[in-house]
Amino acid sequence: MSKRAVVLLSGGIDSATAAAVARDEGYEVHALTFHYGQRHAREVESAKKLAPALGAAGHKVIDLDLRRIGGSALTDQIPVPKGRGVEEIGAGIPVTYIPARNTIFLAFAVAWAEVLGSEDIFLGVNAIDYSGYPDCRPEYIAAFERMANLATKAGVERRSKLTINTPLIHLTKAEIIRRGAALGIDFSLTWSCYDPTPDGHPCGACDSCILRQKGFAEAGIPDPGSLSSLADSSRHQGFVL
Ligand SMILES: [Zn+2]
Repeated sequence: MSKRAVVLLSGGIDSATAAAVARDEGYEVHALTFHYGQRHAREVESAKKLAPALGAAGHKVIDLDLRRIGGSALTDQIPVPKGRGVEEIGAGIPVTYIPARNTIFLAFAVAWAEVLGSEDIFLGVNAIDYSGYPDCRPEYIAAFERMANLATKAGVERRSKLTINTPLIHLTKAEIIRRGAALGIDFSLTWSCYDPTPDGHPCGACDSCILRQKGFAEAGIPDPGSLSSLADSSRHQGFVL
């Protein structure tokens, strides 16, 4: 039996590539997605298409309303910044930062990994394009991994070592796109935009749209998900628990 991995799959380029890396390394992929009240819930639809396309053995979508917490342009009544330059995007922690998001998501991933008997979690964070994100830093990941091994029955009884794999952490967006393309990802299934138009198109101006455009341009690969063929669904069709 293949080793199992829990992969946090948001529906974006990075998490899709992390899932493809896990599969390429021989893991049986169990994808975990959160519908957390994000402004761009459209990404959940992408995750539902990506999971089978990436050969996932299982996919859970967890419903978790972070709007009750707020504090982010993605979960609260705060405008999403538009038209910022790349240097400005990288200059600090943006208002699209969601308080403690990776800590919340990783806690669920650790729980599911324990149930699955998995010793590996894959997370598509990178510390290059978002150098200011506190929960994307290598030292954060190392600290969480240490905590997780203290926190679980599996860790204590089996003396197994849970590893949080971050295969993209030192890659630029362009490098991630090249890696994903080499692994056969259909990027038309991915979603990046933080603030989709009412008819379900990417806005083309938020930080995530700009970094996606820059990444594909630098990778020298056309973006199959740009403003086309993505309008079929801005609705959410329920959750698989
Ligand atoms: Zn956008």
